[in-house]
Amino acid sequence: SNKPTKIAIISVYDKTNLRHLAEGLVKNNVRLLASGGTSRMIREAGFPVECVCNNENAGDALCCYTGRVKTLHPAVHAGILARNLESDEKDLAEQHIAKVDYVVCNLYPFKQTVEKIDVTMEEATEEIDIGGVTLLRSAAKNHGRCTVLSDPNDYHDFLQLLDRGSVPEQIRQAYALKAFEHTADYDAAVSDFFRKKYATNTQHIPLRYGINPHQSPAAACTKESRIPFKVLNGAPGYVNLLDALNAWPLVKELKDALGLPSAASFKHVSPTGAAIGIPLDARERKVYMCDDIDGLSSSALAMAYCRARGADRMSSFGDVIALSDNVDLVTAKIISREVSDGIIAPGYEAEALEILSKKKGGKYLVLEIDRSYTPPAMETRTVYGVTLTQGRNDFVIHPKETFTNIRTPKDSPSLPDSALRDLTIATIALKYTQSNSVAYAANGQIVGLGAGQQSRIHCTRLAGDKTDNWWMRFHERALNLKFKKGLKRPEKSNSIDLLCSGLVPKDGDERDDFERNFDEVPMPFSQEEREAWLKELNGIAVSSDAFFPFTDNIFRADRSGAKFIAAPMGSNNDEAVLRTAESLGITFVEQSTRLFHH
Ligand code: 5GP
Repeated sequence: SNKPTKIAIISVYDKTNLRHLAEGLVKNNVRLLASGGTSRMIREAGFPVECVCNNENAGDALCCYTGRVKTLHPAVHAGILARNLESDEKDLAEQHIAKVDYVVCNLYPFKQTVEKIDVTMEEATEEIDIGGVTLLRSAAKNHGRCTVLSDPNDYHDFLQLLDRGSVPEQIRQAYALKAFEHTADYDAAVSDFFRKKYATNTQHIPLRYGINPHQSPAAACTKESRIPFKVLNGAPGYVNLLDALNAWPLVKELKDALGLPSAASFKHVSPTGAAIGIPLDARERKVYMCDDIDGLSSSALAMAYCRARGADRMSSFGDVIALSDNVDLVTAKIISREVSDGIIAPGYEAEALEILSKKKGGKYLVLEIDRSYTPPAMETRTVYGVTLTQGRNDFVIHPKETFTNIRTPKDSPSLPDSALRDLTIATIALKYTQSNSVAYAANGQIVGLGAGQQSRIHCTRLAGDKTDNWWMRFHERALNLKFKKGLKRPEKSNSIDLLCSGLVPKDGDERDDFERNFDEVPMPFSQEEREAWLKELNGIAVSSDAFFPFTDNIFRADRSGAKFIAAPMGSNNDEAVLRTAESLGITFVEQSTRLFHH
């Protein structure tokens, strides 16, 4: 028979299709070298096979090593890694080593092993493949000459190519990539296992469960040296972290942009409120239910939180709070009597931490974020098994830079500082709101926010309706409600919301429930009263995370007192949108950057 001209090294844990492979290789006159179990099976199938150690002059020495060292030998890797260069060929000849043309290898079942319940550290460790990973890596590295097969499903096509003569470069490239992916995936499984065992809680935090209770296990981890926050109290859930890790950059950017302590209140990964710490007048204190707080005006951070929490008290029920500054005692006291799930802030005064740690029977989540942390430029997530990557949204919103392109009015355009401030708040809030989104702001805070709607007009309406509701709460009647003594804060907020949104039923059980909350039942607002009061709403700043496709948005915003609107352009209706803004006396600013967020 012909003298074999090519050499294959085979070392496979998964022996699927191995017989078929050996048969095809031998038919093509390829000399087979294999590791222990693999060679046994090939030999039993009736094909000629030698031990891997036969590829060099060390004789049996290699095979005398323990089972732990099978293919790990310079001679094996010299044969794989040698290039078609004179110098490499000379070295091989001197050592009587032949070039290896094909490497077939798949790895120990590390993943399956560690998935077993009660797997011991020793069992797991034994499944860490060293030689196989090295074989794959060597062959994949030298794929310019060498073909590497890491998937038994590829043997068939490979053999067909061999029957026709050779393996084309493009195919070798595809196989090399597959081998690299195989080892990368394997190493990820190994590091994952050891991360769970050995990582300090600075790199890996087990979570109670995922988005829903049946989604477990769940964890938060980082490939960097440490997670940028510490858990000071409680145990975070998955959604808590989604909220906290969106809310924190929001308040950080708000403070950077406007120079004042900032706060956000998050629910379901969108803000219910966001604000900077500017003084509250008597009415605001009342509406935001903080008129009984001593020393409120001494803490800008506390004022920021009162505004963030106060904007939509009903939605904020059970929020995750983000604060831009170290949490002081006043702020902690305000938080302590609200229903809330957790907080993220760069630091806590000792007394504040003590108060917060007692909330929820001691389970209140308290996270301390590293203020100096900057996330990596690239973001990765997996959806339905597909990994998506993107550059992080690092667009900076700044009152002096972001709102300079004023499109209407055409004559003497200008924006007062208060509008620049409120547009900045609205736009930064949108950057961390589920899209589509539209935000209305006034007095240094969000007053209405529409999140996660599939159509823009629904966002604009939702945010407008919330703004109307917010404003109705400043009506004399809403300010002077006579609640039953001992009525809880959330129940008060719910009653106020029902009254102010004009949804108090005429009769029935819900009406009775409503009435039971009061010593003196308030009259629902008549249509005329609503309209008259809402007419007073003015000077609102509105921002949109993408362009307005139709003029209806401008008309709707106008009905809730919009005087300033910022939005990207790019719709077919841009001209009509601008014309509408102009005719309604609205200052329209073209904002350069779309800010979708999901
Ligand atoms: P076999 O069944 O042929 O004895 O072993 C095949 C397995 O051994 C493959 O999964 C391969 O990745 C792995 N392997 C290859 N070289 C070495 C080595 O030098 N040491 C060890 N422990 N395993 C190896």
